[in-house]
Amino acid sequence: MDKQEHLTEADGESRSLNFIEQIIEENRAEGKNGGRVHTRFPPEPNGYLHIGHATSICLNFGLAAQYNGKCNLRFDDTNPVKEDVEYTDSIQDDIRWLGFQWDGEVHYASDYFQQLYDWAEQMIREGKAYVDDQSAEEISAGRRTINEPGVNSPYRNRSVEENLDLFRRMKNGEFPEGSRVLRAKIDMASPNMLLRDPIMYRILYSHHHRTGDAWCIYPMYDYTHGQSDYLEGITHSICTLEFEVHRPLYNWFLDELTDTEYRPRQIEFARRNLNYTVMSKRKLLELVEKGFVSGWDDPRMPTISGLRRRGYTPESIRLFAEKVGVARREIVVDMALLEYCIREHLNKIAPRVMAVLDPVKVVLDNYPDRTEMVALENNPEDENAGIREVPFSRELYIERDDFMENAPKNFFRLTPGGEVRLKGAYIIKCTSVEKDAAGNVTAIHATCDLASRSGSGTEASNRKVKGTLHWVSAAHAIDAEVRLYDRLFKDEDPAGHKEIDFKEFINEHSLKVLTKCKIEPGLQQAKPGDKFQFQRLGYFCVDKDTTAEKLVFNRTVALKDTWSKTQK
Ligand code: ATP
Ligand code: MG
Repeated sequence: MDKQEHLTEADGESRSLNFIEQIIEENRAEGKNGGRVHTRFPPEPNGYLHIGHATSICLNFGLAAQYNGKCNLRFDDTNPVKEDVEYTDSIQDDIRWLGFQWDGEVHYASDYFQQLYDWAEQMIREGKAYVDDQSAEEISAGRRTINEPGVNSPYRNRSVEENLDLFRRMKNGEFPEGSRVLRAKIDMASPNMLLRDPIMYRILYSHHHRTGDAWCIYPMYDYTHGQSDYLEGITHSICTLEFEVHRPLYNWFLDELTDTEYRPRQIEFARRNLNYTVMSKRKLLELVEKGFVSGWDDPRMPTISGLRRRGYTPESIRLFAEKVGVARREIVVDMALLEYCIREHLNKIAPRVMAVLDPVKVVLDNYPDRTEMVALENNPEDENAGIREVPFSRELYIERDDFMENAPKNFFRLTPGGEVRLKGAYIIKCTSVEKDAAGNVTAIHATCDLASRSGSGTEASNRKVKGTLHWVSAAHAIDAEVRLYDRLFKDEDPAGHKEIDFKEFINEHSLKVLTKCKIEPGLQQAKPGDKFQFQRLGYFCVDKDTTAEKLVFNRTVALKDTWSKTQK
């Protein structure tokens, strides 16, 4: 097939078709399933979605949009023990927030419990399924290993009548949990272990988040997934590689149960993982339950809700998904790529403001006792962003580490006797410092070159000095708490060590809370979710812990970009 070009949403660059798009285009060219494209995103509601899921969402919804098709949201809720409405709600929120809308109503595998049950009875009547009284251990032992054929269950040749009777009594709650299962009668010698009479139903006296106590037998995922796709008219069932070996089983069920020409086509791609984190929902749940993080939306979590709280935008995550792409080969994506994507977006949209995280006071001894407004650009990347006025006065705060008493030659910030420009305002010169008993600097005294105000057109206003510092006026500044984050794990692959539990690699310094920060007064009205560039410091967003008394910010990402330098 000709290599076709395709425009990416992200940056208008064109790229060639990926292997999934190629399959879809072939299917459309041959008129398969009427040329329709209908995908689905099928999460199990047993946890919050993470960045890996986000790539799968972008893929499935993106393909549907690209080919004028549809994408369903289907909860694969066949395991009532681990599932919860908290999760079905959060998953819907996350998908909408990412900018996607599923076709029609939300679907649930549990919508098909009756149909699946009827199909199971049909299979029993056709001699293709049987009730097995063996224990889970016996069943598993009977399958033997990949190197030898399995052995038939002693119950494999029960009569249709006996099977029907036992299956109905399983459904009616006459037998204890674990005492019996329904198995498909396929091939105990198959080289594909999954075809060695897979279990279709097990008994579980568990309340289901949607069907309540209506059922005490639940279909296995493998008996549910392919038929759910079929019932919804899915044309391309995209899933991760581990399901490749399940494909013959899904096809077997559909061949036995249906007789239409229409068939969903399963296409597998490799999971996308991120370094310095874990992606298994079980492990993420453990971090939440054991209190290693504040919740599923802790800004250090790789969950969509965590990234959102951290200050990531839907656009940045969609750009990430686009850049990561799809492949058959498992890859670990560098966290720096995710950070690159959010910087790209925030650079365009985030208003620039001044905030001092670790303040030290500067007193301009020759500056009159007045407040003057200086005009600063809101966003040099956005010509419509305009300017704002920021108060300047005799007492200001600058960053403690922007001053050094005994500075090396290459230190271009403030030193005794040295000059810097205060951004958008004046050039100042440090004259002396005040210290406490322990020797810490408590105030810096300076004189201000009153003719040097930026933009005033004087000769002094054009005078060049090496350093420019951000600052806030002490009398006008508002107080804020700022939370700085580092990686949650110290190891690139915390879950990849056989002998060592992943929690051993937790970075105990991953959260640093600064409580004495000073922010320019215009941010008084900032609302949770608002995003800013704190000049020279990084991108920050207002946290949901903000109250009328206290503004709280999360640092989304620092300004320094390591990814584009090494990759471009
Ligand atoms: P678990 O971690 O609990 O085993 P899961 O991550 O497979 O489960 P599901 O709810 O089954 O979670 O996932 C929903 C969809 O997201 C599936 O189609 C799955 O293939 C896809 N998906 C999950 N993790 C990733 C990942 N890291 N990269 C790409 N797609 C993923
Ligand atoms: Mg799964």
